[in-house]
Amino acid sequence: MAQKRDYYEVLGVSKSATDEEIKKAYRKLAKKYHPDANPDNKEEAEKKFKEVNEAYETLSDKQKRQMYDQFGFNGPNFSGNQGGGSYYYSSGFDGFGDFGDLGDIFSSFFGGSSRSRSRASNSAVKGNDLRVVTEITFEESYLGTEKEITVTRNESCPSCKGTGSAKGTKPETCSVCKGTGTIRQVAQTPFGQMQTQRTCNNCGGTGKVINNPCTECRGKGTVRKVARIKVKLPEGIDDGQTVVLKGEGEAGKNGGPNGDLYIVVKVKKHKIYSRKAEHVLCEIPITFTTATLGGEVEVPMVDGTKEKYRIPEGTATNTKFVIRNKGFKNINGGWRGDFVFTVTVQVPKKLTSEQRELLVQLAKTMNEQPPIKRKGIFG
Ligand SMILES: [Zn+2]
Ligand SMILES: [Zn+2]
Repeated sequence: MAQKRDYYEVLGVSKSATDEEIKKAYRKLAKKYHPDANPDNKEEAEKKFKEVNEAYETLSDKQKRQMYDQFGFNGPNFSGNQGGGSYYYSSGFDGFGDFGDLGDIFSSFFGGSSRSRSRASNSAVKGNDLRVVTEITFEESYLGTEKEITVTRNESCPSCKGTGSAKGTKPETCSVCKGTGTIRQVAQTPFGQMQTQRTCNNCGGTGKVINNPCTECRGKGTVRKVARIKVKLPEGIDDGQTVVLKGEGEAGKNGGPNGDLYIVVKVKKHKIYSRKAEHVLCEIPITFTTATLGGEVEVPMVDGTKEKYRIPEGTATNTKFVIRNKGFKNINGGWRGDFVFTVTVQVPKKLTSEQRELLVQLAKTMNEQPPIKRKGIFG
């Protein structure tokens, strides 16, 4: 892709601009660059118009803006899903992008009603976003994985390509409203002539009539389908993070784009490991002789390998050791956290008579009770 201008620069606002300032700047620029307002310079205007819209789509969405602030254009974009990139939201995200407002702005440009929410029923509408939860293991979140997601969604009918008309036929312009979708009536009232407007009954406001409905979708233009979609979950993805697959939601209406698919990741608890930020935490039991004399232990890594680690002599229980760069990969930065293990010293419950004798001998050389640390009791 050619070099892109910074979204804030495109809208001419500061990085700390409020939502209101962003919206204002967007409205101004969208009007200025609207192709219809620039008949002499349509192509250039259209380019600018698209740029402005793209910037607004990101900056007007709290989560997308946050991501853009953090990662810029080089945020994690994984291809492999129908060319539409996927991107990640950080944890705690459970809302969906609201494009309603953007739609209102568009419809006010394209002749639809500018009153909020009363969109003409024949204007292009983006399909609904969908949300699914997928559960993965601790190891899968560590190594990255590919999952197949099953989602039931409305897809554009393959038989009629979404038109709702049987093969070889096309929806026809409604003869009652002449394709406008609305009926204007002039009535004589005691107060004079009054014009009223209502949605056309004949076409339901779409301006089109389907005389030969498609047999597969019965004229609706969409069919319910169970879709299996492969999604790559990157190395290091954490519990609660969301992967977004653009255009994998429900089919849009009247030529509008598809909605998006939000895949929320749930990571199962592990028997021995836990995660803190990008670090792997784990407890490793050691014998009291290893703790006292020092010795080598084998530490099991999340990827299945083992690391030898030398425990120094005189190690107390609950001492932490760090193996650098063996933690989770940060999904955006590429750097790794550490593997942090805590040793717990095991006291033997049963001894052979020979072991007991050896310990008794040892005890005789250590006849004093160690001093009690006051801080440990009262601190
Ligand atoms: Zn159909
Ligand atoms: Zn009509």
